[in-house]
Amino acid sequence: MTDCFNQKLAVVLIDLDRFKHVNDTLGHPIGDALLKQIAVRLMSILSDGKAAYRIGGDEFSVIITNVQQQSEVMDFADHIIKLIKEQFIIEGFELNITASIGISQSPEDGSTVESLMKNADAALYFAKSKGRDQSQFYSSSLNVQSFKFFSLSNDLRKALEKDELFLHYMPRVQAQTMEIVGVEALLRWNHPDWGQVSPAEFIPIAEETGLIVPIGEWVLREACMQSRRWHSMGLPPITVSVNFSVQQLLQRNILQTIDRIVGETGLPPERLEIEITESSFISNEKVVTELLLELKKRKIKVSLDDFGTGYSSLYLLKRLALDTIKIDRSFVEEMMTESSNRSIVECIIRLAGELKMQVVAEGVENKEQFDYLREQRCDEIQGYYFSRPVEPESIVQLLSKRPFMEPASLRRSKEPAVNRRQNFRIDLTHCLLAEMTITMFKGRSIRLGSTEVFVRNIGPGGLRFMVGVKLPVNSDILLKFKTRMDNQMYVLYGFIVWYNELDNDIHEYGVQFQWSEQENDELVNALHILDTRQRDGIPPQTQIYVGDPMLRIKELKKIN
Ligand code: C2E
Ligand code: MG
Ligand code: MG
Repeated sequence: MTDCFNQKLAVVLIDLDRFKHVNDTLGHPIGDALLKQIAVRLMSILSDGKAAYRIGGDEFSVIITNVQQQSEVMDFADHIIKLIKEQFIIEGFELNITASIGISQSPEDGSTVESLMKNADAALYFAKSKGRDQSQFYSSSLNVQSFKFFSLSNDLRKALEKDELFLHYMPRVQAQTMEIVGVEALLRWNHPDWGQVSPAEFIPIAEETGLIVPIGEWVLREACMQSRRWHSMGLPPITVSVNFSVQQLLQRNILQTIDRIVGETGLPPERLEIEITESSFISNEKVVTELLLELKKRKIKVSLDDFGTGYSSLYLLKRLALDTIKIDRSFVEEMMTESSNRSIVECIIRLAGELKMQVVAEGVENKEQFDYLREQRCDEIQGYYFSRPVEPESIVQLLSKRPFMEPASLRRSKEPAVNRRQNFRIDLTHCLLAEMTITMFKGRSIRLGSTEVFVRNIGPGGLRFMVGVKLPVNSDILLKFKTRMDNQMYVLYGFIVWYNELDNDIHEYGVQFQWSEQENDELVNALHILDTRQRDGIPPQTQIYVGDPMLRIKELKKIN
């Protein structure tokens, strides 16, 4: 379809938030009835020039023709959000649901059905990524982060069949003996355009779309098979832990699936541990409790992950058939500097002892933390202090060196030793602020909003910047930077040639310029001026950031 529209038109794409959860917990007939009631509510607010459609599943769309003002569309979207938020009563259940909305408009956001739908969909994903229960317009919405989210959402469906998923394993070390007693399987995605994607970025997408069920099954099978492979190499036996999302736990046939995989792979069940989070119990306490008892009968272990971050009831802890508690990294991270975190950690260790559970501290990065936890008699340690998550071959290396595990000297990110740029460059005392966006993606030009980045050094050949988004080293992705130096705007284009992880989710990149909208001489000149001026203090009429860029990036992440 390539119809052109001559009038101003808006596509309003509506998607219910966590609708799958209703289906999973209350069953499809209730889910169906809910969809019907939503359709009725939608129809009730249609006026002239508006038509509503069900696109499929829990997605609806309203086409508004002859739009006079954008505010009209905005009001309409707000109205829908309010309407859906009003409680539904279905067969005695009181259901509260929210919706996210993406909006595209012609002619600005496209003039064909395909492009308008695609862009409304992108805006919808942006609304979801910003916390759901809201509407977003395409034109104003897409920055680099949301573009990545959108593109990952599109591609995840195919990732399994294209064999792009794989597992890394992170050792768990016995604190007193320093033996490796287990590994945690952690999912990785090798995306053709975005490079290695962290689970923090795509597990939420998998959960939202329900893809977590087949993906989770794949993870379980792969981890069990890997464990068998290690065993058949004559390596000492260890436990393998696998993370489970709540949707997996709520699958009706979850026990059969686990039994089947354990049976097929021949892994002794006591070598398998399933990690669940506290949030799994919210509104599913009964189902999950029963499941845990069944797992216990099979000798499969269960641990409570990220302990301390969710809702916890001590009473629940006692009743559940749990083997292990994993203290969340956030407590360990600030343990040595904040006494309240130290008290929490001590309490958890003591509590686990009383309840006869094992306790694992996650996120241990240095000797000080390790020594302290060992002194407190924490059973096991997991963290970069011993090892990052690694490929299965490295586990072979580590296991064959048993019984002792040596701390991995923490590899602090280093600036690449060689200066890859031939020209001179200026190290900036204070970062230069720039607006960064992607302008070309795999040979196609795209139009996105921009993201704030911090330039640490710059020369005529390239620059080095920091940002909270993980970007790939990929010459198919052309970046555009816009910044102001000495009262003149500079627009520079280039691609990433190297990258470093500076801290959790803060990345640093080296960019090689392809071209700039200014003459090279002009840029060289401006850089010389910048260099001279910064020796005298803060260069005037230049976009300088005087604070700590790391703190600012963390702050920006919280806002978005
Ligand atoms: P998690 O289960 O709490 O896993 C531990 C995470 O903490 C891992 O991040 C690990 O790399 C990180 N970590 C451990 N020690 C340290 C440390 O000392 N320093 C730092 N900076 N990080 C440390 P990763 O691999 O990015 O996984 C993030 C989360 O994604 C996991 O948190 C888990 O909730 C989820 N996830 C990973 N794989 C799967 C999976 O197969 N299924 C499901 N449902 N979720 C998964
Ligand atoms: Mg885990
Ligand atoms: Mg954890």
